[in-house]
Amino acid sequence: MLEIDGAYGEGGGQILRSSLTLAIVTGQPVRLVNIRANRSKPGLRPQHLTAVRAAAAVCDAETDGDALGSETLTFAPQRVAQAGNYLFDVDDASPTGSAGAVSLVLQTILLPLALASSRSEVRLLGGTAVPMSPPAIYLERVYLPTLFELGIRAKLAHRLWGFIQGGGGEVTVEIRGSSRPRAYDMTDRGSLIRVDGLAFAARLPSHIPQRMTNRVRARLNDAGIENRIIPEHVPSPGLGTGLFLVAEYENAQAGFLSLGRRGLSSEEVAEIGYQAFLEHHRTGAACDPYLADQLVLPFLLAAGESRGTTSRVTRHLLTSVWVARQFGFDGLQVEGESGEPGVLLVKGVGYSGNTPQSILAGGA
Ligand code: ATP
Repeated sequence: MLEIDGAYGEGGGQILRSSLTLAIVTGQPVRLVNIRANRSKPGLRPQHLTAVRAAAAVCDAETDGDALGSETLTFAPQRVAQAGNYLFDVDDASPTGSAGAVSLVLQTILLPLALASSRSEVRLLGGTAVPMSPPAIYLERVYLPTLFELGIRAKLAHRLWGFIQGGGGEVTVEIRGSSRPRAYDMTDRGSLIRVDGLAFAARLPSHIPQRMTNRVRARLNDAGIENRIIPEHVPSPGLGTGLFLVAEYENAQAGFLSLGRRGLSSEEVAEIGYQAFLEHHRTGAACDPYLADQLVLPFLLAAGESRGTTSRVTRHLLTSVWVARQFGFDGLQVEGESGEPGVLLVKGVGYSGNTPQSILAGGA
C-alpha cells in the first residue's frame, strides 16, 4: 500500500483530496498519515471527512480512519468510479454542523466521475462562498469552462449560497461521463476582453453590494478596462457578502473572490478583489494562482503535454505535483520560484478506459 505523508509541503487538506482522486483513478490503495499536520486543528475536518465519504461512495472503497479528527486514513478502492446520482451534505459530517466548502468535495470526485462510463448528477450541500476554497461561482465561471477545453464536461447550478455563518448552500453538478481528456495549452491568455463582477449580499442592506459595485467600477473605468459589475441579492439561509470578479481574456478566464467580514467596509472588500485581479493581470499569465493547482490532476489524466502559465507558483501547486509523483507519475514540472510567476508543465498519461492499473503502469 502506498503511504502518503500529509505533513509534506503545504500540509493541508489538498494532499488528502489529490490522493483520494488519484487512488480512485489508478485503483491504488493508499494510507495517509499526518493528515493536515500543518493546520491548527489537524486531522479530518467536516469538509475533508465529506470528501472521504464521497470518494468512498463513488468507488465502493474500504476505509479505515474515516472519522472527525482522524490523522490517519486507509482508502482502498474496490472498483472504478461508478456513475450515478449522489448527495453529499458537509453538515452531516459534524455533530455541531458545518459550512465546509462543497467545492472541495466536488474537487475530489469530479475527475473520477467524468471518466466513469455514463452521466452523473451530484448534489452538494454546505458552504459555497467560504474562505480558503473555490466559491461555487469560481467553479461555474473559471474552473469548469477551463476543464471544458480539456474535454471534461460538467455543468453546475448554484441554487443556494452558503456562507461561513450558517452554511446551507446548495449546488447541483451534472457531469457528463466517458470523458477522454485531451492536453491543453494555457500559455497565452490573449487580450483582456472585459472584467465581469458580481457584488453579492444575502440578508444585508442593499447599499452594501451597491457600494462595492461603485468602487470596483470606478477602479476599472479609471484603468480603461471594460466591465460589467452587477450588485445582487443572493438566496441564502445565512448572512454574507462579497465581490467576485472574472477576468475574461481571449483564451482564458481568471477569478478573484473577496469576502466581506466584520470590520471591513464595502469599499475595502471591493479594493481587495480589484487588487487581486490587478496583481494577476500585470503578470501576463493565463492561470490565476488557484487554477494552476486545480489543473495538475486534469492535465495529468489528459493525453499529451499540457502547460499553463500562472501568476503565482503556490505551495498548493508544488504540493499537488508532489502528490502526483508519489503515485509514480514523473512527467510533471514547475518552473519558477514559489510566490513568483511560473509555468506548470505536465506530460499527461491519457486515460483510455476503465482499467485503472494500466494508468499507473503508464505513469510509473
Ligand atoms: P486546510 O484547512 O487543510 O488548509 P483545505 O482542505 O480547506 O485545507 P487547502 O488544502 O488549503 O484547503 O486547499 C484549498 C483549495 O482551494 C486549493 O485548491 C486552492 O487553490 C483553492 N482556493 C482557495 N481559495 C480560492 C479562491 N479564492 N478561488 C479559487 N480557489 C481557491
